[in-house]
Amino acid sequence: MKFPYLKEAIKSAFKKPSTEPYPKVNKEAPEGYRGKIKYYPEKCVNCGLCIRVCAPGCITRTIEKVEEGDKVTFTFYQGQCTFCSLCADFCPRGAIELTKDYHLAVTDPKDLIVSGTFIKKAPPKPPVQPQNQPAAKNQESNA
Ligand code: SF4
Ligand code: SF4
Repeated sequence: MKFPYLKEAIKSAFKKPSTEPYPKVNKEAPEGYRGKIKYYPEKCVNCGLCIRVCAPGCITRTIEKVEEGDKVTFTFYQGQCTFCSLCADFCPRGAIELTKDYHLAVTDPKDLIVSGTFIKKAPPKPPVQPQNQPAAKNQESNA
């Protein structure tokens, strides 16, 4: 009978715990690790794709009418997040990033909220079309 992990287990038994220097020295997360969410509202175009692909429903959006257009706020509640990265993968503008930051142990659930706001400007109003002025036309034809 083979014990493929026996050698590793014996080696590890004599190693210092890798968490020993924590929190003074933070070990870097491995490549591809999906941790804390970062949202870049300045890149967002309010397409809503991230909301549609998020299975646990941890992304919410509020839109408030303001003078300049729409004040759009996106909120990510990481307490529900499965860190699947679908929101970031589907975002056409790279406005969401799952960073390598794994510090997600909090005492207040509010600290798991990530949010950002931007103003979506209203489209410019179309130019006012000149009205038909039959009186002026009559004046031209009389001239
Ligand atoms: S990583 Fe997954 S679960 Fe978390 S907000 Fe994005 S889509 Fe939702
Ligand atoms: S998918 Fe990206 S661009 Fe679209 S609403 Fe979400 S964050 Fe904004």
